[in-house]
Amino acid sequence: MTIPLCTLIIEDSEDDVILLTRALRLGGYDADVLRVETPEDMQAALLSETWDIIISDYSMPRFSGLAALALMKELQLEIPFIIVSGTIGEALAVEAMRSGAHDYLMKDNLARLIPAIERELHEAKIREERRQREQEIEAIASISTHLREAVTHMDMLEILQAQLQNLVNVEAVAFLLKDMQEDFLQVELASGRWENWQGQTIHLHEGVTGAVIQSQTIYVNPNLHDDQLFAHPELISDAQSAVCVPLITHEEAIGAFWVGRASQKFTDNEVRVLSAASNIAANALQRARILETLEQRVIERTAELQALNDRLTELDKLKSKFVSDVSHELRTPVTSLAVYLDLLKTGSMDKQRQYIEILQNQVTRLSNLVENILDLSRLEADVAKPMEPIQFNDVVLDVVLDLTPVAERRGLQFTYILEPQLARIEGNYDQLIEVITNLVGNAINYTMEGHVQVKTCAANGMIEFVVEDTGLGIGRADLPHLFERFYRGQRVGQSTIPGTGLGLSIVREIVEQHNGSIRVESEEGVGSRFIVEFPAMVSG
Ligand code: ADP
Repeated sequence: MTIPLCTLIIEDSEDDVILLTRALRLGGYDADVLRVETPEDMQAALLSETWDIIISDYSMPRFSGLAALALMKELQLEIPFIIVSGTIGEALAVEAMRSGAHDYLMKDNLARLIPAIERELHEAKIREERRQREQEIEAIASISTHLREAVTHMDMLEILQAQLQNLVNVEAVAFLLKDMQEDFLQVELASGRWENWQGQTIHLHEGVTGAVIQSQTIYVNPNLHDDQLFAHPELISDAQSAVCVPLITHEEAIGAFWVGRASQKFTDNEVRVLSAASNIAANALQRARILETLEQRVIERTAELQALNDRLTELDKLKSKFVSDVSHELRTPVTSLAVYLDLLKTGSMDKQRQYIEILQNQVTRLSNLVENILDLSRLEADVAKPMEPIQFNDVVLDVVLDLTPVAERRGLQFTYILEPQLARIEGNYDQLIEVITNLVGNAINYTMEGHVQVKTCAANGMIEFVVEDTGLGIGRADLPHLFERFYRGQRVGQSTIPGTGLGLSIVREIVEQHNGSIRVESEEGVGSRFIVEFPAMVSG
């Protein structure tokens, strides 16, 4: 078997070239020989082709072995260079070796030519391998230096993509990473001919990438179109030759990356470099992703705490307002009690009955106020009231029976329409009594003439309770504040109609504790309708 050998011979004698060529052939080389004898021709030859070996005469009329050697160095080439001369003496040979020639031989002793070439080729191969290794180490070191500058895993992917393009000559790069739930792989970055991979997702076990991740082995294919395993063959494009490398950290594949190019097969060296790059990349990416998740959780938790803090601040403000409102509301009846008690002591006897009546009213107001405040504080204490299935109509009837005499005393028509077989609700009897009493009590209180009607009905899985009256109605300006604590309507506030402004806020609180809702429709001078909805219990 002959070994091809691109040989550049620098020689002025055709005969010597024939001798050398014969020696090479006899030594088992299929020598592709070019002879040059001037610096210009040598330079042109060096620039146009890749040479395995240069054999040069020592002295020629227009050129010399040492000048040829210098020219090769000038062009920064490292080709095995052997001087073959008829005249070279010991001293000149030493000088030639010092100048960088790899060996020297005498023309009349060509027996050494073949062993010298073999040795030089072998050493050149070792030099080339070492050079490649150094380049690889440099490239890997550069990847790891650059990755250190990245903050997010996306920054890292951008850096890796650029570095991979430097490292191996590729026209397409894509990174697929497992999502946090580890259900599928997502293309997080794709460039070049595979730009349209961006954003695609595939299942963890799907396609070539899935197989690479499961087996944790590198996939190299010079002709992708031959592989039936691709999940999306339409996306291969004209990047035919490709490598898919799993990204493995702590024995787990967190994703994979692809590099591809139109035709040129990936060499073993390239695959080795890609594999080394993947190790560094996988560790760095995993660290970044863990940090990002942690940061995200810290951001979310901070937002939650901030919201909680805002809510507590708000509650604190409400509490302070409540305390000052309560003090204010208590002061009026207490002041008036003190005034009328004094009048009772010092005033005229004929006014005594009137004073006692006022005193009684103020005491009633005070005790209502205290009752309402206690109700509110009990509701706020958040002591869960025992809930039980309740027949809502029964509660309504209890209140209706209680308040009918009151309504009649005021000359009002008081009616009720209760839907039979109403589903039950999950509720607390005492609290529901309070809701209904407050609403019906208000309707009676704020209706001078006409009627008050109470209704129950079922609607869309809810139980509806409606209290309707033909009373004062509620002004537009009052409507948005109706359920605020201590809020009394503008007209009502100026009237003598008793009240604390706490009833509706208590009602709303209880309704919400029962997962219900309350709304009001009202027109001043016409009347009001309060509608409460509670979720109905599913029967059976
Ligand atoms: P109070 O009745 O003790 O004033 P509420 O909280 O029960 O306090 O009611 C707040 C305000 O809503 C009342 O002051 C009144 O202006 C208005 N209001 C409530 N119910 C009715 C109603 N049925 N008709 C007219 N106004 C009403």
